[in-house]
Amino acid sequence: MLHIAIIGSGPAGYYTAEAAQKQWGDAVRVDIFDQLPVPFGLIRSGVAPDHQSIKGVSRRYDAVALSDNVRFVGHVSVGRDVSVAELQGLYDAVVLATGAPNDRPLGLPGADLGNVFGSAAFVGWYNGHPQFAGLAPDLSGGHAVVIGNGNVALDVARILAKTPQEFAGADIVAHALDALAGSAIRHVTILGRRGPHQIAMTPKELGELGNLARATPRVDPADLPAEAEDMMLEPGQRKSVAHLRSFAAIPEHVHADAAVEVEFDFFAAPRALIGEEGRARAIEVERTQIDAGRAIGTGDTYRIPADLVVACIGYQSSPIPGVPFEESAGRFANDEGRILPGLYCVGWARRGPSGTIGTNRPDGFSVVEKIAEDVGAGAAKQGREGFDALAKARGLDVVTFRDWQKINDAEIARARDGAPREKFVDVADMIGAAGRE
Ligand code: NAP
Repeated sequence: MLHIAIIGSGPAGYYTAEAAQKQWGDAVRVDIFDQLPVPFGLIRSGVAPDHQSIKGVSRRYDAVALSDNVRFVGHVSVGRDVSVAELQGLYDAVVLATGAPNDRPLGLPGADLGNVFGSAAFVGWYNGHPQFAGLAPDLSGGHAVVIGNGNVALDVARILAKTPQEFAGADIVAHALDALAGSAIRHVTILGRRGPHQIAMTPKELGELGNLARATPRVDPADLPAEAEDMMLEPGQRKSVAHLRSFAAIPEHVHADAAVEVEFDFFAAPRALIGEEGRARAIEVERTQIDAGRAIGTGDTYRIPADLVVACIGYQSSPIPGVPFEESAGRFANDEGRILPGLYCVGWARRGPSGTIGTNRPDGFSVVEKIAEDVGAGAAKQGREGFDALAKARGLDVVTFRDWQKINDAEIARARDGAPREKFVDVADMIGAAGRE
C-alpha cells in the first residue's frame, strides 16, 4: 500500500488526489490535509462570489473526496499541529498543495497606511476567509484604486462597482454585502503600470465589466495602440484588447448617466501612497513608457484620489520551516515538483500564482508521475493509521469530509433568498455546525 499526504485541499490538492487514484487505484491511500475545517481552498476563498459556475468544479472534487481511498483531514495545520518531517515519517510521499495565500508586498512608501490592502486580504474579506473576515475596509470614501491589470484586479473592481441586486445568486458573505450596500465608492481606478497590450485580463472576465447595472468602464482612446497592431497579439489577448476598444468608444452621455465609473489608467506605475491621519487619501503615480516590454518611468508624476487601495499584484506561498523556499519567486524551490526525497509540491506552491483552475489538473498528474518514478510500491509506512494515533495523542480535533458535509448543509440552510449559501466565517462556528462540540 502506498501512502500519500497532500497538504492543501484546493484545486491542486484534489487534482493530485484524483491523479493518484487513477495511477494506483485501490493500492493507494491519500489523506488531504487542510488547516481550515472546510475544503476547496481557492474555490471557496479566492474565486469571486459572483462566479458560481467556476465554483461548480468542486462537485468534481466531491467525487474524489467520497471515495474510500481518499479522505479529508480538516482543521489540522501542518507546521503547527504536525510537522512536515513527521508526515514524511508516516507517508511515502508528502505533496505541498498549499497555494500562494499571501500578498506580494507593494513595497511603496505609505503602503502601511490604513485602508490599503492586498488582494489576498480584500478577496478573503468578501469571500469570508476566517483570517480576513474582520478586515472591515472603510468604503465611505468616493474613490478606490485597484493596482494591477490581472483578473484579480478585475474581480475586485467589479465587486466594488456592483449593486447589491447584482449579487443575487452569489455566495458573497453577509458582512461584505452589507458593507458594499452602504459603499460611497463611485469611482474605481484600475492602475496598470504597462499598457493595453500588456494586460493579464482574460476576455470573458473583461467583457463582464461592460455589462454592469450602474457602472461604466472608461478607457482613454489615446492609450490604445493603432488597431493594426492588435494583429500581433495572440487571439485571446486580441479579444481582451477588443473589449478595451469598445470601452473607449462608450459615448460621454452614457458615462454621465452612470452612477459608478471604472476607469483604466494605463502607463501609470504606483510610486507612493499619501495619507491623512494614518489612512490613505491619494496615490502618487509616475507615467511610464514601454521599452522592450518593460515599464520605464518618465519622471512625470501625478496624484489620484484613493480612499481605498487594493493591490492586486500577485501572491506568494507561505514558507514552511525546513522546506527549501525560493524567496524571489515566492514558491518552494523545486525541480518539476520535486523538493526533497519524498517531498513534492504542486499548483501555485510549485509554479507560482498563474494560470486557471484547470491548469492544476495536468500539474497534479505530473507530480503523481514523479512520485511513481521515485517511490515505486512504497516503503511499508504507517500512513493514515500512524497519523490517527498521532492526532489522538495530541488531542487534535480533526474534521472529516462527513463533518464538512454537515457544515455545508448548515451553510446552505442559512443562505439568504436566492443565494447558494451563507458561509461561516469563524472557525468555531464551522466546528459547531459539524455538530461535534
Ligand atoms: P496576474 O495575472 O499575475 O496580474 C498581476 C498584475 O499586477 C499584472 O498586471 C502586473 O503587471 C501587476 N503588477 C505586479 N507588480 C506590480 C507592481 N509592483 N506595481 C504595479 N503593478 C504590478 O495576477 P492576479 O491578477 O493576481 O491573478 C493570479 C492568477 O489567477 C492569474 O493566472 C489569473 O488569470 C488567475 N485568475 C483567474 C480568474 C478567472 O479566470 N476568472 C480570476 C482571478 C484570477 P505586469 O504585467 O506589468 O507585471
